[in-house]
Amino acid sequence: MKYVIIRDDDTHPLTPPDCLERLYRPFLDRGMPVNLATIPCVRTDAEFSPGVLEGFLLGKSTPGARPIADNPVLLEYLRSNPGFRIVQHGYYHDLYEFERHPREEIARRLDHGTELLCEAGFEAPETFVAPYDRISRDAYRELAKRFGIISTGWFELNRLPPAWWPAYFLKKARKQEHWQLGSTRLLGHPGCLLSYQRPFGTMVDTIRKAVESRKVTVLVTHWWEYFYLGNVNEPFIEKLHETAEYLASDRDIEVISFADLLKKGIPLH
Ligand SMILES: [Zn+2]
Repeated sequence: MKYVIIRDDDTHPLTPPDCLERLYRPFLDRGMPVNLATIPCVRTDAEFSPGVLEGFLLGKSTPGARPIADNPVLLEYLRSNPGFRIVQHGYYHDLYEFERHPREEIARRLDHGTELLCEAGFEAPETFVAPYDRISRDAYRELAKRFGIISTGWFELNRLPPAWWPAYFLKKARKQEHWQLGSTRLLGHPGCLLSYQRPFGTMVDTIRKAVESRKVTVLVTHWWEYFYLGNVNEPFIEKLHETAEYLASDRDIEVISFADLLKKGIPLH
């Protein structure tokens, strides 16, 4: 059996529920869970680089930050569709936040982020997704204390606590994408295969190859890329829905949530 985890990043209070509905209805109707990496308290003026607004803000900048509970319509939509599973994605999602802040501030953001998700009515997430795939050594230490799963793009020796190095070398020697340290599972992924920057013609085939070559595949995408600056990218949505069809039709594939991985004790390799 192969396992696939769908991870959609950057849900926040300004995410229109209609966008999630349009993208994920084919997954939800087929009983496939969708993990929404949710920003607990988004900075509504977050910039990707100086003067360039984060894509997930859909072109609108307003000063300040907004907790996820600020949008009751979105919360109601998510609660009434239990196929959506909420995992924690940063705190403000300002640039490199889990790389550049001191340990105390990282701990505060992690704890308050979880509190905000719980106040919004979600279960305390067991999975953390790092914005920008940037995690400092101190951030790793704080994450391992709180989360059963860390999902990121890749792992680099010089960002990991030295005590983790032997396990990391072993993972490298075995050419494994995922690894485990104590009770924390560290999941990599094969890149954002569902991205508006990739060729649509080969997209589903590339996904198929990735899924067939691993026991557990984390498929990453971003809802706002399908609606970038207010333009609905129909060909891209079609590819996402083709992916849903492929995943549902192959009997050797089970689409699971991050939480299922822990609950069912699914092996990483
Ligand atoms: Zn993000």
